[in-house]
Amino acid sequence: MTVLQKNFIGGEWVDGSGITKNINPSNTNDVVGEYAKADKAQTEKAIAAAKAAAPAWGRSTPQERFDALNKISVEILARKEELGRLLAREEGKTLPEGIGEVARAGQIFAFFAGEALRLTGEKGASVRPGLEVEITREPMGVVGMITPWNFPIAIPAWKIAPALCYGNTVVFKPAELVPGCGHALSEIIARSGIPAGVFNLVVGSGSVVGQTLLESPDVAAISFTGSVQTGRKIAQACVLSNPMKKFQLEMGGKNPLVVLDDADLKVAVEVAVNGAYFSTGQRCTASSRLIVTAGIHDRFVAAMTERLKGLTIDDALKSGVHIGPVVDQSQLDQDLRYIKIGQDEGAKLAWGGELLNRETPGFYLQPALFTEANNQMRIAREEVFGPVACVIRAKDYEEALAISNDTEFGLASGICTTSLKYASHYKRNSEAGMVMVNLPTAGVDYHVPFGGRKGSSYGAREQGAYAREFYTTVKTAYTFPG
Ligand code: NAP
Ligand code: MG
Repeated sequence: MTVLQKNFIGGEWVDGSGITKNINPSNTNDVVGEYAKADKAQTEKAIAAAKAAAPAWGRSTPQERFDALNKISVEILARKEELGRLLAREEGKTLPEGIGEVARAGQIFAFFAGEALRLTGEKGASVRPGLEVEITREPMGVVGMITPWNFPIAIPAWKIAPALCYGNTVVFKPAELVPGCGHALSEIIARSGIPAGVFNLVVGSGSVVGQTLLESPDVAAISFTGSVQTGRKIAQACVLSNPMKKFQLEMGGKNPLVVLDDADLKVAVEVAVNGAYFSTGQRCTASSRLIVTAGIHDRFVAAMTERLKGLTIDDALKSGVHIGPVVDQSQLDQDLRYIKIGQDEGAKLAWGGELLNRETPGFYLQPALFTEANNQMRIAREEVFGPVACVIRAKDYEEALAISNDTEFGLASGICTTSLKYASHYKRNSEAGMVMVNLPTAGVDYHVPFGGRKGSSYGAREQGAYAREFYTTVKTAYTFPG
């Protein structure tokens, strides 16, 4: 019998007012779990619990915060194989990718455990004689977290860990499609020693649970990762709420990878295949535009096609699989729609794009590579969010750079070159938040800032010490000692 997984509100595990089924995209007959859905009233209860817990947690010692975050980290890391399996089963990433993501979540909690001990302020002389000025950071209060399905444990971790580290309380809404990892993470957090109400889990849809978070005057800040379309709604709601909420948005991408004539072809192909197709291309940092200069273009396309032929697309939990299934039917429909659009626009489908049959019913798609694309096509301008990439031919470096920046997005970018001159120039002139040289556009460290610019991101950066800009508010205090 399936055990119904509950929500965590005010320190209690509580039933919901509906059930959401978590389906394995590698095998749609496999129900990963059943999860209680929170309604508006329960979400309000979670917000009230977080509000009640905020003053005491805001005054907790760095040691208390370190102990809780460190304990969470230790348990996540100790269970990374088991949780990685759950992740791969519910989201469709391969098992090694799932385990890697879980390990990353554990490392993020370890990082912020340390940060809890490092938070200091500044004290300085006033410009007026005899006065002292102090600058300190205080928690925001209740922070609402709304996360997407594609990184079901790492993204919640990189929001929850800094929120708790800097003394905030949390109401967490995972994506309804993948509640398993969010639930498992919540169980670990629940036994970390933090007081009741400091952390709350509310599983449910964006339109009910998400909306309630956005409407509540008791939520001080919203950290959101997801699509541009939802991000805009979040921004509007945060500005219209009274008081206005602080918000940060991490959204879509149309990330370019430039391949220059002087690139090491082998390196370029590995970087492109990883960046464009691993994790089924369902990464905000995926390279979906491969901008290749004329001298290497044909060799690159030939080598890419050869490499793609050698990839195994199958059940995410099987060993030796390179690419798992697409996450669900609606994402698969979107991928297929864009493959059709690309063909209709006149790009050449050089490889893949067809549905695959495997032992179990799942959303298996052969990774698609378009060539003869140009940067005005919809497949080069709009985020597909699947294993679909297009090659755009450029005359030279200058044209490649211009195409690279000709996008409304600005999350990640990359260049493959052996030239220090072009690598340096690209790092300085690429209009993206993260730039990679001879590395996939996806794949980042956990101790440094993550985020983009232009249409990809809004507000303070996430991760690393920069996370404190969002999760704290600054106070300036003046003293006249007398
Ligand atoms: P999404 O549809 O925008 O959903 C993201 C979250 O917002 C989900 O939890 C969703 O809830 C919730 N939501 C939806 N409508 C809402 C509303 N009206 N009010 C409040 N919350 C609402 O995005 P997704 O399909 O899950 O994720 C894919 C997108 O995320 C892609 O665009 C990708 O590029 C982006 N992404 C960006 C980053 C980054 O760091 N830049 C990282 C990963 C992913 P439910 O779906 O549960 O109803
Ligand atoms: Mg699922």
